[in-house]
Amino acid sequence: MDKRLEFNSMTLVELQELFLTLGEKKYRAEQFFRFLHAQKNFEIENLKQFSNTLIEKLKNEGFINKSTIYKRYESKIDNTKKYLIRLEDNRIIETVFMDYKTYTTVCISSQVGCRMGCSFCASTKENFKRNLTACEMLNQIYLIEKDLNLKITNVVIMGIGEPLDNYDNVLKFLNILNDERGKNLSLRNVTISTCGLVDNIYKLAKENLPITLTISLHNPFQKERSEIMPISNKYSIEEIIKACKFYFEKTKRRVSFEYTIIKGQNDSQKHAKELKRVLKDLNCHINIIPLNEIKEFDGISPDTKYIYIFKEKLKKLSLNATIRKKQGIDINGACGQLRQGVIEQES
Ligand code: SF4
Repeated sequence: MDKRLEFNSMTLVELQELFLTLGEKKYRAEQFFRFLHAQKNFEIENLKQFSNTLIEKLKNEGFINKSTIYKRYESKIDNTKKYLIRLEDNRIIETVFMDYKTYTTVCISSQVGCRMGCSFCASTKENFKRNLTACEMLNQIYLIEKDLNLKITNVVIMGIGEPLDNYDNVLKFLNILNDERGKNLSLRNVTISTCGLVDNIYKLAKENLPITLTISLHNPFQKERSEIMPISNKYSIEEIIKACKFYFEKTKRRVSFEYTIIKGQNDSQKHAKELKRVLKDLNCHINIIPLNEIKEFDGISPDTKYIYIFKEKLKKLSLNATIRKKQGIDINGACGQLRQGVIEQES
């Protein structure tokens, strides 16, 4: 990795400090920030309002980190598009574009690989390689906006990686994303999904940002959850729920829970009742997701009928739940699967 300054990962305040140390006016930093994040320009030579001397000065200090679209897959069933994006060090990440009637969403990756080791997840099978920088997260959005010539209105950080394991870069990403001189995306339209890194949930709550927090729960029983999600050995379900209550108190944002149904493993009446017990007193919502099968995990995805039966069980217990429709199932469902396919082909 290039160790020089990555201009497009710098907040406006950081750019202003840099310009002042270079003996330049502060407003120049704002022009540069707009060039990077409103115009989404990756070529420093295109900075026509800057003199050649200033451009050379900047080039000595750092660079604009570019990512490129390596491949695009289009669903024939819905309008979902999945992208493989190549980073400057040639690593590949995955980003998904979903088109809903009134808004557009991208699901972005936050790391190359993941160290959380959830047994049902393809993203972790190639192990953790590195964190993404702020601009490598932003570039995923910018590349898709340019490719499809549209505006992304919603962002979910639910692709490859555990966002709260890359805390500082994710926070910087949010700062830049939200800046009115750049992409200007409301943080109300951002969702962060975590497997439950309790310490960082508290830290995020204290930032008091209006972000939706989603917890990948998948099983309400501590022992059973630990069998598929090793992080559960570090942070118990009880500790996660306590942290979620704190998050709600601080931000007033309702927390969501992801519940992937694995046939015969977490869809019984006993599980529904335990979910009710665990989530009592919490203002929350449950997203039911059918498992995306992968070859390394022997869990089975349930038939649609069983998913509705489980939803009914939750409804009878007065739990708010919706079934998340699988998007782009014809272009390789689960997050991390496409990338894994390419890594396997190339190795
Ligand atoms: S489910 Fe999320 S946290 Fe777990 S291994 Fe996959 S990417 Fe990492």
